[in-house]
Amino acid sequence: MANLPRLLEQLEANLTANGVQVHWAENGQEANAIALEIAERVQAKRIIKGKSMVSEEVGFNHALQAAGIEAFESDMGEYIVQLAGEAPSHIIMPAIHKTKQEIAQLFADEVPGVTYTEDVDALIQIGRRVLRRKFAEADIGLSGVNFAVAETGTLCLIENEGNGRMCTTVPKIHIAITGIEKVVEKLEHVPPLLSLLTRSATGQSVTTYVNMISGPRKPGEKDGPQEVHLILLDNGRTQAYADDELRATLQCIRCGACMNHCPVYARIGGHAYGTTYPGPIGAIISPHMLGLDKTYPLAFASTLCGACSEVCPVKIPITDILVRLRNEAQANPQTEEATLRGSGAARTVTASAVWSVWSQVYSKSGLYKLASWFMSRGRALSPSEQGAWTSSRTPLVPAPKRLRDLMKDRKA
Ligand code: SF4
Repeated sequence: MANLPRLLEQLEANLTANGVQVHWAENGQEANAIALEIAERVQAKRIIKGKSMVSEEVGFNHALQAAGIEAFESDMGEYIVQLAGEAPSHIIMPAIHKTKQEIAQLFADEVPGVTYTEDVDALIQIGRRVLRRKFAEADIGLSGVNFAVAETGTLCLIENEGNGRMCTTVPKIHIAITGIEKVVEKLEHVPPLLSLLTRSATGQSVTTYVNMISGPRKPGEKDGPQEVHLILLDNGRTQAYADDELRATLQCIRCGACMNHCPVYARIGGHAYGTTYPGPIGAIISPHMLGLDKTYPLAFASTLCGACSEVCPVKIPITDILVRLRNEAQANPQTEEATLRGSGAARTVTASAVWSVWSQVYSKSGLYKLASWFMSRGRALSPSEQGAWTSSRTPLVPAPKRLRDLMKDRKA
């Protein structure tokens, strides 16, 4: 990560030497415009997609549909959520929120000629049958990238269904899209990262397919795409990179383990976050993509239990970053303490005044003694309606006796 700028340049040079066309996109709009330009040049009507969270991040399907191009998901989970008109609820298992019965009903309703069945093997075969045809019909295949190797100009893509390999080899054009943080220096750095990723994501020691893409079809070769493009997306990642503490966010290898262990995610599910990346990783990466002003509640929607940091295979200090984002949300935008786009969004005059009084009271013992004495004596004056707090909870009332008094009583 420390060498990221140099490695990105090296990656571009080696990919170009391999015949891969490299494009840089500052935001989602630019990424979509690049893909659309390629699609329009070859008069593409259909695009088949392998699993790619970055394409979700940039709203790729909507952009294509608006231009009259069909974008078809080929990962089984993504296919299910696309059929249902929903977004993925997990970065590894997009349709984890759906039951077998819901999927059976969805297929019966949406796939022509299919009758209701809860037999999982039969459901998979239905998806397989529909998707196989789509690979042959597609003009362009789109995929994500798990790691891009700077030294060799290789794009690594892992998957379990074989759809990634089909997307990247059957259509005559392959477009890969990824964030700028996915670059690694050497090929020998890939196996340990792949091992961490698969073990943390699905408990596998290796995925069924490991694809190493190093360029388009060469003269004399019988298969493979005629053009390979790589879109390298920033979309706020350089903001994280510029900050020594927040840079660790970019270490993420998208294994999803933090979601699987997060008590909040387990309770509310991925859609409740309202962002492409849900769960703990979503809470720390979305502010860079969408602005802290739009996403700061996510940093507060955490118990800070630390399960995410503990299971993260690349040791991202997620809870420390959540606390930092909370502080950023409350920071005074006129000062140097506010460093991010949207910093200070949670700051209000009332809250600032309350916290300033609070810090005075809690940092001076005489004041604290006096304030706690008044609060315990004046508890009867506590309002019974306390805004949003009392909409689902009992009102907060100070204790009749301060801890200090209780300790005195005990000694006596
Ligand atoms: S933050 Fe860590 S645990 Fe969560 S998805 Fe990224 S690598 Fe996996």
